[in-house]
Amino acid sequence: MRRKLAAGNWKMNGTAACLAELGALHKMLPTAPPEVVICPPAPLLFRAHEAARGTGIEIGAQDCHMEASGAFTGDISASLIADTGALYVIVGHSERRDAHEERDRDVRKKAKAAWAAGLTAIICIGETLEDHEANNTLDIIAGQLAGSLPDQMTGTNTVIAYEPIWAIGTGKVPTLEQIVEVHDFIRAKLETRYGADIADMVPLLYGGSVKPDNAATIFQAANVDGALVGGASLKAVDFAPIIQALADS
Ligand code: PEP
Repeated sequence: MRRKLAAGNWKMNGTAACLAELGALHKMLPTAPPEVVICPPAPLLFRAHEAARGTGIEIGAQDCHMEASGAFTGDISASLIADTGALYVIVGHSERRDAHEERDRDVRKKAKAAWAAGLTAIICIGETLEDHEANNTLDIIAGQLAGSLPDQMTGTNTVIAYEPIWAIGTGKVPTLEQIVEVHDFIRAKLETRYGADIADMVPLLYGGSVKPDNAATIFQAANVDGALVGGASLKAVDFAPIIQALADS
């Protein structure tokens, strides 16, 4: 059985006061919850880890530098992230690919840096609206998988998040059929490259406007093992029903 995972990406939102949401979320979790990861802004990582102690909620960062250390003003290494108690780091989010011009090669290096620090990499891929409308989704996904995933991926060091860029923060969501098609395609590509044992273990998350009212539908897809959630992860009252829907799926 593959593990299920609900990850919340707070992006550049919130202050320390928002960490109270972790305690609130804990109180609303199902009795047998899936894995839950909250990725707050970097300055909150350590306090988030403290606030989550005893709740079962894990903490992740939103990005890391590809190098282990050095003259990179303002950047954060994977080992510094691990030092806060975080276990996960998102790499290759489309907002970083876009605003920071990160390419597949950079994402691949960041995933390796994450692993070297003992973190699990949540590697994001996804097509633009233009590519979606031109029916290029599977080609784009194939290219991003080939370029962003290191050869050394195992069944436990990586989570892959499929996030159509046009669905992030827009309220637009692909049809269930489209989600099934892309997730089945990703699983098949992993199997070809890494073999069935590894491919079967890697959780595949869907991300892009997941909300309490659409989560159960999305989780019907056999190869959707969870969600990467932005806006709806900020408030426990919104994130908890998504986690419940995942637990029930
Ligand atoms: C995201 O930022 O990864 C995301 C999926 O955001 P939202 O859920 O707000 O669309």
